Amino acid sequence: MKLRIGVAVAGVVVPLVLVNTPSAAQLETARLEVEQPDATPYYWQVPGAGERRLKLAGFDVEHGAGGAVQVVGDQSVADRLAGLGYRPVRHDTVYKEVLPRVQDVGVQTFYGGYRTAAEHSRRLTDVAAAYPALTQVYDIGDSWRKTQGQGGHDIRAVCITRKQAGDCALSPNSAKPRFALIAQLHARELATGELAWRWIDHLTRGYGSDAEVTSIMDTTELWVVPVANPDGVDIVASGGNQPLMQRKNANNPTGCSGATGGVDLNRNSTFKWGGAGTSRCGETYQGPSAGSEPETKALEAWFRQLFPDQRGPGDTDPAPVTTRGVMITVHSYGNLIMPPWGWTWNANPNAAGLRALGQKMAAFNGYTVRAEGDTTGTTDDFTYGNLGIASYTFELGSSSGNCGGFFPQYSCVDSLFWPRNKGALLTAARAAKAPYAS
Ligand SMILES: [Zn+2]
Repeated sequence: MKLRIGVAVAGVVVPLVLVNTPSAAQLETARLEVEQPDATPYYWQVPGAGERRLKLAGFDVEHGAGGAVQVVGDQSVADRLAGLGYRPVRHDTVYKEVLPRVQDVGVQTFYGGYRTAAEHSRRLTDVAAAYPALTQVYDIGDSWRKTQGQGGHDIRAVCITRKQAGDCALSPNSAKPRFALIAQLHARELATGELAWRWIDHLTRGYGSDAEVTSIMDTTELWVVPVANPDGVDIVASGGNQPLMQRKNANNPTGCSGATGGVDLNRNSTFKWGGAGTSRCGETYQGPSAGSEPETKALEAWFRQLFPDQRGPGDTDPAPVTTRGVMITVHSYGNLIMPPWGWTWNANPNAAGLRALGQKMAAFNGYTVRAEGDTTGTTDDFTYGNLGIASYTFELGSSSGNCGGFFPQYSCVDSLFWPRNKGALLTAARAAKAPYAS
């Protein structure tokens, strides 16, 4: 007897001809193949591929190992790459083994310890209550879902300093210089929000006992937004021990399925917006207009409240040596410190000063300092371009191993990311009074 069974391989039904009567085990194998194509996500190295071309073709492109372009996706994505003539090489798994750990009762976490968006917010409330003389928390705007009446979150910022009269006000003319750090603008970059918390904890717990922290907090305002894209973090966390790969916000354009909806908040900023990602379902979709998203609006309004405009309007106008203020937006992955510009490969007019401070920070985390002019609408182009403050994108971690990629094991936050970056963040804080004078 001949039996024909259709087996789905990467979306194509291939007729399978079995000469003899199949055993129950063979039928079971065929059934599993039909129902379960390999949807395990991997990082694929794509030798010889151009980053821009792959992005235009709709692939999820990241910084690869050794300069090679890397694409994130399952076997069907690799098949698509192969169909275009590329030879994708499987580099590493996206999901790492989730290790059991002892955890405080009632704390909402996922994937071995990472906090949910609600947990981040609750923690911020707790820290403000515990350290009233050192902190001030602000609601700086709503996430997209909140603006739609679909749940969502407030976006919250904390100012940390030894508060004197007039400190931590939402006014750009502050007595103390300011260092602003934001994290998890890209929701799936899990370690970034946790790094923000190690920073908050180091400051609040260290005041009065750690001489360096005390000195910095007596003279500087340290502002932190631990989760800039809380809706996205809700989507990521909904996957539990297999977090969803949501990068963008939750503003779902119709016609996009799965985790591909949303706007890339690091392509949506108003400075030189446009041209980054025009495909609505692409991972780098820039949005329908400059600053269209509520998260972008909230962050940009907040930055303008923290820092006066200290740079001229021309592309080649340098910010003066008297400029105050540093901003770091924390992403993953790539082991990079990236100053502006993103919108052009031309050097920005403060390139030397930005590079000098970048190298001082790199002395601690070992990252490569490098500008890449292939993206528009980034946060750091906005804060440097509009306000003149020294601005950087950090890309935490490597592309492989248990501490690599978007979903490193939770223990890597304390074993790797925080110890490597602590000195870098302290350096940024000390530089806030004159970042271009170093
Ligand atoms: Zn990112």
